Amino acid sequence: MSESSRKQLRKRIAIIASGRCEYCRVLEYLSHHDFHIEHIIGIQHGGTSTPSNLAYSCAWCNWKKCPNIATILEDKDILIPLFNPRKQNWFSHFEADETGFLLGKTAIGKATIKLLELNHAERVEERKRMMVAGFYP
Ligand SMILES: [Zn+2]
Repeated sequence: MSESSRKQLRKRIAIIASGRCEYCRVLEYLSHHDFHIEHIIGIQHGGTSTPSNLAYSCAWCNWKKCPNIATILEDKDILIPLFNPRKQNWFSHFEADETGFLLGKTAIGKATIKLLELNHAERVEERKRMMVAGFYP
């Protein structure tokens, strides 16, 4: 893929995501972290580098997610898939309280919060600042 094609694809994904991380919903222009184009289903799992499998992700979410597509919660026998921003609605799986803390509304939401450490103190503080300014969720 040429540099020009790569830039165009990045821009397209950013537009689809409305400039937000598709996992934690922080806004890129208010974030402390660079944003990445992230493979929802990693290439090693058969994922493609097409818009239907690419998400706009803050650096933190991308670093934590890596090629993971699932994790386990308390019940160690059940593998829970991670949130897929191309197939699922964020608001169906997550809810932010007034402090910026994220609540998982479903097992998928809880699994994603756990694996991506979405409630790390720095991340909660970042969301709270955006919330106070009226830019979150
Ligand atoms: Zn994020």
